[in-house]
Amino acid sequence: MIYLDYQATTPLAPEVAKAMHPWIEEKFANPHSPSRWGNEAEAAVEVARKQVERAMGLKGGSVAFTGSATEAINWALKGSVEKAPKERNRIITVATEHAAVLDTCEWLAEQGIDLTVLPVQQDGCLDRQLLSRELDERVALVAVMQVNNEIGVTQPISEIAGMAHKAGALMLCDAVQAFGRLELCNGPDLVAVSAHKIHGPKGIGALWMRKGKEPAPLLHGGGQEQGLRSGTLAPMLCVGFGAAAKLADERRTRDYDHVEKLWKAAIAALGPGWTVNGSSTHRYHGNLNIRREGLDGARLIGDLRDIAFSLGSACASGSGRPSHVLRALGLDYRETRSSIRLGFGRYTTQHELTDACARIAAHAVAQEKLDA
Ligand code: PLP
Repeated sequence: MIYLDYQATTPLAPEVAKAMHPWIEEKFANPHSPSRWGNEAEAAVEVARKQVERAMGLKGGSVAFTGSATEAINWALKGSVEKAPKERNRIITVATEHAAVLDTCEWLAEQGIDLTVLPVQQDGCLDRQLLSRELDERVALVAVMQVNNEIGVTQPISEIAGMAHKAGALMLCDAVQAFGRLELCNGPDLVAVSAHKIHGPKGIGALWMRKGKEPAPLLHGGGQEQGLRSGTLAPMLCVGFGAAAKLADERRTRDYDHVEKLWKAAIAALGPGWTVNGSSTHRYHGNLNIRREGLDGARLIGDLRDIAFSLGSACASGSGRPSHVLRALGLDYRETRSSIRLGFGRYTTQHELTDACARIAAHAVAQEKLDA
């Protein structure tokens, strides 16, 4: 199989599997127990926390582990609203955000929060003048992602955070697709990340919180994570996340250069007739979301079962609904159906990628002939 779905998840790094192994096989202590074994597990969790914090590279805050980035985002949004002054009952976000942000914001709107979902320009970038016009003293929080999961488009997070702060609002950044791939932008008060997008295990994420801007707890119970996120931590997952973060930090330039080469090779191998969805320049190049006139993307995926690629987000692909991200770029229903996403990274070889692209292009041409 050729795996080209790096935005959905990434393969576990061998170094990560090795680091996790003792914590799966032998070391089972509760990291919150006072025994010697518990202390050892706690120490391993704290090393992992430092590794994640170092790789995130943000100043003035700390990380709490969560069960996923979805949980981190839910916590950040709901907990910030809970702590906001009464007169700040507004959230601003963007139409191309992940469902973890959009659906949580919509739930909050049902509870009485005033929600503004800003449109994007045709290239997927946010119009900052529009944001500036919308920001006022009623806004509690602005939520914008650094790298989009469906189209890879990047937003100027530090600038947006500065604008939010000027209006007295907090800024949440979903950095799930940026972490380990690009340098994270300084500025936001809350930053959500996930281990399985950086060659770590599934079932663990983290919320970076600026000191003094911590949201109210979402989960109540044993008071773990400084009373902010109750629930026994899983040392094996924390250790895996830490190892993955350390590796991503050490390899960032190497991985980035590799991805740049892959992007160029993929475009060349696909040949003519394809249009890149979203900006090519304000973009992480490990995400190649493309469309072709008349293509049936779902049929293409069905035809090429030994290549793992997708129509957009894993959630959008499952539902059969047209991608809300592509719709936000102004694509019509037909264009969204003729779009596919190729995601590649650290372990993708140039040879397998160009092989896959050539076969995708050949099948797309064959479809055209069949439909003609
Ligand atoms: N945000 C973005 C941009 C994502 O790509 C994902 C995962 O697909 C998430 C949030 C949710 O992450 P998790 O799988 O850790 O809940």
